[in-house]
Amino acid sequence: MRNRDAPTARTGLIGRAMRRPALALLAMVFAVAGGRTAADDAAEPAAQQPERGFAFAGALTQGGWIRGQAPPGTVSARLGDQALSFDSQGHFFAAFDRDAGASAELVAVTHSGSQVTASLAIAPRQWQIEHVNAAARPGGSSEAFMQRRAPELARIAAARALDTQAQGWRQDFIWPARGRISGRFGSQRVYRGAPGAYHSGLDIAAGEGATYVAPADGVVVLAAEVPFSLEGKLLIIDHGNGLNSAFLHSSALLVAEGDHVRQGQPVGRVGATGRATGPHLHWSIKWRDARLDPLLFTGPMD
Ligand SMILES: [Zn+2]
Repeated sequence: MRNRDAPTARTGLIGRAMRRPALALLAMVFAVAGGRTAADDAAEPAAQQPERGFAFAGALTQGGWIRGQAPPGTVSARLGDQALSFDSQGHFFAAFDRDAGASAELVAVTHSGSQVTASLAIAPRQWQIEHVNAAARPGGSSEAFMQRRAPELARIAAARALDTQAQGWRQDFIWPARGRISGRFGSQRVYRGAPGAYHSGLDIAAGEGATYVAPADGVVVLAAEVPFSLEGKLLIIDHGNGLNSAFLHSSALLVAEGDHVRQGQPVGRVGATGRATGPHLHWSIKWRDARLDPLLFTGPMD
């Protein structure tokens, strides 16, 4: 979804798209890091084995993510001030918003009461910013529009709040569809100095009617057969652990709410419903409130 009908008089293109570097960031990093406080050391016998730290891998950059394992004996873990959920082996998922700061900290508290930390450096991105010499389009906030929009937003929020216990968050994602990338995550227009909303997903210009598939296992938490005003026929798949995918502008949905889907299963057909100027699949990914770059989940399209 993007406001293609917005004014397009361009005065310059600043911060060109990083077409390759984003992919370079996919190079997996692996780190084992642990930190103990002096108080921990004082409270425990000196002969105790050194504690293992966090293990994790992923894309440590804005819009990126990590999967990892908390230290043995972890009873609670957090990323910054966000509590993490982890399974019985300590496996967890966490991610970094498009506008995340340059550093973050993983913290685990173990059953012995000690605290283990890992400091993360979150690489900044160079988003595609386009300066436009025109005022932002005023539309979209009329009372009539909001009357229609409010229940749509409520359904989206309710769907994303569902905890389905899906396990797709553990998987390497696959491309839901193939085609030219016609819009990148994070790109943004600035209208005479006033920033517009950034592009919240990745646009794949697959043809009208092309089938798209689930990028990972999940549960369908929203299947809007009656098109939403902006998203059109909207499909949201929960991958569990706070991670979900949304697919916009479909011409048809092949699954229904409550369906369990497997990675690679056809789930919809590409279209141009809602606010779209031509058929494409807009794929967005969120972890909790963080908006993420789908390109960092799949690797390059080959
Ligand atoms: Zn889009």
